[in-house]
Amino acid sequence: MPELPEVETVAAALRRARVAGKKIRRVVVRCEKLRQPLVAAEMEKLAGRKVDAIRRRAKYLLLELDSGQVLLLHLGMTGTLRLDEQDTAPGRHDHLDLELDDGRILRFRDPRRFGLAVLRRPDENGRIAELAALAPEPLSDAFSGDYLHRISRGRKSPVKNFIMDQRRVVGVGNIYASESLFRAGIRPTLPAGKLSRPRCQRLVEAIRDILSAAIAAGGTTISDFHGVDGSEGAFVRALKVYGREGKPCPECGRPIRKTVLGGRSTFYCPGCQR
Ligand SMILES: [Zn+2]
Repeated sequence: MPELPEVETVAAALRRARVAGKKIRRVVVRCEKLRQPLVAAEMEKLAGRKVDAIRRRAKYLLLELDSGQVLLLHLGMTGTLRLDEQDTAPGRHDHLDLELDDGRILRFRDPRRFGLAVLRRPDENGRIAELAALAPEPLSDAFSGDYLHRISRGRKSPVKNFIMDQRRVVGVGNIYASESLFRAGIRPTLPAGKLSRPRCQRLVEAIRDILSAAIAAGGTTISDFHGVDGSEGAFVRALKVYGREGKPCPECGRPIRKTVLGGRSTFYCPGCQR
């Protein structure tokens, strides 16, 4: 499943490919059955509009248009966005094409169809309903050691579940939660409320470091994430605990353990993480 670094990688690739500034010449909708219906009549309003900017918020991609509207995209479980050259035939599961005025085609593909593509107009305060209630971005100043310490007081849920809770901080997915807790030396099962302020600070820094490294490496390919040009993310080679059950810890050599928290596979070192 694409997580925050993968979505940021896609946004960065679209910026590098100079999609901003291009006009959308033609829109093709091939499938309307996504998480929310992909309404052809609505999407066709994109024709003739210019893409002003490409942003990311949590795991949403935002294409800001010169009409003031925003095309909100979410990759769901298996969604990908890619840029095809002019006249490239669509593949299976290519549900939405935005043909740009230079001929390239921005394609949204999603075999399992948990993704989302909707057109939204921000309200007078610039807010979009889907994004208004989102917690702080992990790489923003709002996500600090003090913030994590404050919101975790009295919380009994395991710290891993806590940092993956999108109401606390957005975009810390399963792989990055395991890796961040390893880096910070914190046992994933520890109740969140037991974290001292210095350990909260260490965890916030670890989350930032891990996510930044993953973004720099172009994300992590575990199953079917691919960047805009079809390339694979390189961060998978930097994983220290995730997916390494029974293998030696890179710090102390003890075998990495696997457990299940909140229904998700969780990996940690019993020696380094307390
Ligand atoms: Zn260790």
